[in-house]
This record gives sequence, C-alpha cells and structure tokens, in this order.
Amino acid sequence: MRTNLKHFINGEWIESTGNETSDVINPATEKSIGKISLGTKEDLDKAVAAAKAALPTFSRTTKEERIKMLRNIAKGYEKRKQELIEVMTEELGAPLKISEEVHYEMGLSHFKEAANALEDYTFEKDHGSYKVVKESIGVSGLITPWNFPTNQTSTKIAGAIAAGSPMVLKPSELTPYAAMILAEIIDEAGVPKGAFNLVNGTGSTIGDGISSHPDIDFVSFTGSGAVGEKIMQNAAKTIKKVALELGGKSPLVVLEDADVEEAAKIAVSHIAMNTGQVCTAATRIIIPASMKEKFEEAVKKVLPSFPVGDPLNKDNVTGPLVAEKQWDRVQDYIKKGMDEGAKLLIGGTGKPDGLETGYFVKPTVFTDVSNDMVIAQEEIFGPVTTIITYNDLEQALEIANDTIYGLAGYAVGKDQETLDYVAKNIRAGQIIVNDAEQDRAAPFGGFKQSGIGREWGAFGIEEYLEPKAIMGVKVPAKV
Ligand code: NAP
Ligand code: MG
Repeated sequence: MRTNLKHFINGEWIESTGNETSDVINPATEKSIGKISLGTKEDLDKAVAAAKAALPTFSRTTKEERIKMLRNIAKGYEKRKQELIEVMTEELGAPLKISEEVHYEMGLSHFKEAANALEDYTFEKDHGSYKVVKESIGVSGLITPWNFPTNQTSTKIAGAIAAGSPMVLKPSELTPYAAMILAEIIDEAGVPKGAFNLVNGTGSTIGDGISSHPDIDFVSFTGSGAVGEKIMQNAAKTIKKVALELGGKSPLVVLEDADVEEAAKIAVSHIAMNTGQVCTAATRIIIPASMKEKFEEAVKKVLPSFPVGDPLNKDNVTGPLVAEKQWDRVQDYIKKGMDEGAKLLIGGTGKPDGLETGYFVKPTVFTDVSNDMVIAQEEIFGPVTTIITYNDLEQALEIANDTIYGLAGYAVGKDQETLDYVAKNIRAGQIIVNDAEQDRAAPFGGFKQSGIGREWGAFGIEEYLEPKAIMGVKVPAKV
C-alpha cells in the first residue's frame, strides 16, 4: 500500500490537522492502492504561511542557484524513473508503455526546459530613462488534474522555481502519489524550505481555499472549464492573477493530398493515447468528403494496432479511464451521439470483451457527424472521436474554428503552403503538422475558452513574474 497521510509543508512531512482520508483507486482493478489525507483549511493556511515566509529569500536567489535546483530535480527525477512509471500506471491506469514514453518523459522535460530557458533569460533590462526588473509574482497556488500526474505538476513547479516564486500545490485527489514522489525529489534538490509545499485534499476545500486565499498572489489551474470559472470568480475578490489551462475539442484537418492511412493512424492515436483523457486530443477529424469511404476503412484497419487492456501488459497502448465517474460520463456521450443521429463506425457503449473489471471503454469512432452535434462540441475526455466532412478548405477551417475552444489544432497533408495556411488560420494555441514532435520549449496554452496564459519553457516562467519599472537609479541593469 502507498498510504501517506502527511502533507509536505515548510520542508517537512507533517500530520494533517483533520482526520478525513480518501482511498486512491487503481482504475484497472477497481481496488484501493492506499489512502491520503484530505487536508483542512488549517493545513492550507500553514502551507501558505510557509510559502509567504520563504518569499523574501527565495525570490532573491540567483538565476544560477535556481538553474542548479532545476537540474538537481531533473537528476532526482531520473533516479526514480521506475517508481514514477509504476505509480502512474497504478493511480491513473496508464499502460506501462505510456507511463514511460509519455508521462515520465513529459514531467522530466519541463524541469530541463525551464533550466535551459533560464540560461538565456534576462531579469533586468535598461531602457534609457528607466529599467525593467522582473520579480517573483509572490506566493503561487497550483491546482492540477489527474490526467497527466507529472506533466501538469512539473510544468507549473518548474516555472515557479525558475521565477523564484514559492508555491503551494494541490494535486488531484485521484492521482496524488506521483506528486508526493515529486515532493520528495524537490526536498532533496536544494530547494529552500517553504518554497515548495504540497497539501492533499478536495477541490472544494483546498482548491477553493487556494483560489480565495488572501496571501496567494497567483493561481495556476489545469482542469475543467466549470472549475476554471469558479477559480476566476474567487480570485476576483482579492485581484489575483489566474492562469487557466482548460479543455479542448481540437480539430484535425486532413488535406486532399494527405496519405489516407497516415491520417487515419494519427486520428486514432489521439483517442488511444491516455485513453483519450488529453486536453489537446484531436476529437474532430475533418476530412474531404471525397475521402470518406477510404478514410473510414483505414480507421478500421489501424485501430487494432492500438491494443486496449491491462496497463501492466507492455503491449497495451490504451488503459481504463481514471474513475467510474468518468466511465459513466463517457458512456452518456456515446449514447448521446447515437441518439443525435451520428453513425457508429466502431465501438459503442459497454466494456470491451474480456475487460469487465476496470473502467475500460471501447474505442469509439462516430462518422456522419455534423459539427453542431453535442459529441462534436463538448469535451468527452475518453476514447471517442468524430469524423466530419468538408467540401473545400475554407469550409474545413470554418468547421475547425466553430467551437468555444482553442487549445490545439492539427493538420495532415503534403503541400507546405496549404499546411502553413491551415496552421495560421486555426484559432488555437498550439498547432502540430503531420507527425511533428511536440517541443517542450514551445509555449503551451489556449485561445478562447481553452484558457488564459501559457506554460512551458520561457513563457511558463513569465507567468510567475511581475515586471517592475525603476526610474532614477544610476546602477545599470544586471544581465
Ligand atoms: P476538475 O474538477 O476541473 O479538477 C481539476 C482540479 O481542480 C482537481 O485538483 C480538483 O480537485 C480541483 N477542483 C475541483 N473543484 C474545485 C474548486 N471549486 N476550486 C478549486 N479547485 C477545484 O476536473 P476533473 O473532475 O478532474 O475532470 C472533469 C473534466 O474536466 C474532464 O472530463 C475534462 O473534460 C476536464 N479536464 C480537463 C483537463 C485539461 O487538461 N484541460 C484535465 C482534466 C480534466 P479534486 O481532486 O477534488 O477533483
Ligand atoms: Mg473533480
């Protein structure tokens, strides 16, 4: 059992002031893997006080000191590779292969990229009659979801450390153990006490407490739009800056000249990877009407190359959904799609054969979808996708942008001018063309209702900084 009932506050693991606990469930077995404490407002107050006390010294550490901390964390993270992979497979249900190749790797990349970005970053700049100094924004509250237990936490922690901003993290109560390992790694990496604090608990107590706390200056949140809205409302009362990384309903635009099999493979990979529990997943596959039959055949052909099943089996790519609540939600969307007249190409309701235990879902592809259907407008967060056809490129872009979201966009095809045109005309924060790899130094975040702000690399550091203008001092800017 992984039970750890303590919170990490002011450089120590301390008992919760309450006695409420919660079981962490392995979604593949439906069994508890351990308990955590559900923290209280008092626990949160202690963590915020520790962060506030750390601010004067932590914010004045040098860039070189913080680069060293980030590189030490990266080394510590690498040392605990196997454990991190196993814990994410247990608490999230991610297949071992995905835990290693995606989750482990993403978490690591953010510490490395923040250190790299810091090497080139200047915190002071002369502008003649004034200079601008960028300083820590103050105490930062980090609230993260369950779908990427090390990626979502690491990108925020790395940005905050790089900026010299002390923080309080509340990880998702569904996937707390990867975050608790991160806390141990940070503890050993020379980060001053109080600069990093972790309080476990529910969104309604600790999450709400963070977004309304008078001593927290900035909240960085990743999760659902509904909670994002509440956080903004709470934050408004004490004029906190907020960064929100919310949902998506991202388009994948397939061009006329695309290789049909390649396009189908990319489309299916989006619902297979992390069981479709990905905010950037392409879940509206926008294809030329003339390609429809061929594309549907190619999807059917490629689907078995993404096997669904036991996360401990190294061949499997798709595991269960994280929780029963998510399973019910995804089932409702599949029913909804059938009710609103979309055609099931593959999949459907219920569990895949032989996978009765665990929150497994049949990878499901709807075709004959029109973009105004609920399944084309709402984020499903499961292995469910939709095929929508277009007649000319302008119509494809119109469909692509007909959404409240704008997190990511994808294009597949050959003609580079057309790909560039599509990339520039999808209103979203990150566009990936063909099989390009996601560079973690690039900014990440959403247009429209997908969020506010950017994470990763240098943009991610800026979120935790405030510019200060200084006039009349004769000391030149330090580089
Ligand atoms: P969520 O409810 O938005 O939870 C995200 C985080 O916010 C969790 O740590 C949660 O705590 C916390 N939280 C909940 N209520 C809060 C409040 N009133 N104030 C402050 N923090 C609060 O997301 P979810 O329940 O995990 O998933 C629901 C849906 O959100 C998904 O189906 C998906 O559509 C979307 N989602 C998007 C992303 C993304 O990356 N964009 C990630 C995850 C989910 P708890 O531990 O108590 O839940
Ligand atoms: Mg929740």
